Amino acid sequence: MDEKILVTQSSMPTYEEYIEAIKPLWESCWLTNMGEYHQELERQLKAYLDVPEISLMVNGHMALEMIIQAFGFPEGSEVITTPFTFVSTTHAIVRNRLIPVFCDIKNSDGTMDEAKIEDLITEKTVAILPVHVYGNVCNIEEIQRIADNHGLRVIYDAAHAFGVKYKGRGIGSYGDASVFSFHATKVFNTIEGGAVTFSDKDLYEKLYNLKNFGIRGEECVASIGANAKMNELQAIMGLCNLKHIEQAVAARKERFLYYREHLQEVKGIRFFDENKDAGKNYAYFPILIEDDYAMNRDALYDLLRSHNIYARKYFYPITADMECYASQYAGAELSTARKVSKNVLTIPFYEKLEKEQMNRILQCIKGREK
Ligand SMILES: *Cc1c(COP(=O)(O)O)cnc(C)c1O
Repeated sequence: MDEKILVTQSSMPTYEEYIEAIKPLWESCWLTNMGEYHQELERQLKAYLDVPEISLMVNGHMALEMIIQAFGFPEGSEVITTPFTFVSTTHAIVRNRLIPVFCDIKNSDGTMDEAKIEDLITEKTVAILPVHVYGNVCNIEEIQRIADNHGLRVIYDAAHAFGVKYKGRGIGSYGDASVFSFHATKVFNTIEGGAVTFSDKDLYEKLYNLKNFGIRGEECVASIGANAKMNELQAIMGLCNLKHIEQAVAARKERFLYYREHLQEVKGIRFFDENKDAGKNYAYFPILIEDDYAMNRDALYDLLRSHNIYARKYFYPITADMECYASQYAGAELSTARKVSKNVLTIPFYEKLEKEQMNRILQCIKGREK
């Protein structure tokens, strides 16, 4: 059997580089609590992401929970969101005692269908929480127009959109706030980690309190908070990986173009549309298996598995159809999301994926047209 190929592989600095970078911790013995590397990573990421403000978090999910909580929405309020995402997006809303109201997506790029948002707004709606899924940028102008008309907050789940620019600005500078994930499987990682980006300076203090128990001084706990801080070993991993990010994205781009070149002629394989105003970070390689392909998505997934190639059905099922939500949302009109979710397959894609590995994958997918 050929060697196993997984859907992704973490980008890492060299062992020596990381060990050298963490050495000072054995002098300072300062491992967390907004230490110097935490501060330095916030400074560097603010510049790299081109955002006005940033608050680092222990992971992307807690970043979502903390920013939703920071807005202080009344319990039971409704948040319009997409079901075509990682389950974290939906859980973060529900764990804040808010109600997700699912909006269908566009077949073209998998992002929230902005034409369907207004019909879902009720007197209980407080926010829109779209996802730049696979780094595909949502219709930012239209979503903002709707939010402004109805007095709603916009919080983007930008977990897939690290480093993406839209109309010359960092993607995290749009809306009221954006959330990034630095999980090991993302384009940029701090092992586990995440961040919230925003413009309103008051949010920095609110998030600081929420991520550190509300502690403002030795004898002062000013508010009720959780613990969602990023530690120094995570921050140093981030500083090391950030040094190589341009090179990592360039390596991904090369592989992306290779796949594209070889798959674009295959009948029944479709790609998501690209937004001409948005940059790309080449985070994932999703393909859509259409009816005129030789087999359906699940059969292709199984075929790849039989060749020791582990593609993933990202994102399937849609979160509204997951066991913990299905009974509530069985009747929701989400036909495009269900269809895209049934047809999508993310094939192995990462910085160090080798050409022979790509050729093995391409060989399985190609030459099977009807
Ligand atoms: C990865 C991810 C998250 C959660 O981030 P973690 O850092 O794993 O907690 C949230 N939303 C989306 C869309 C993601 O892909």
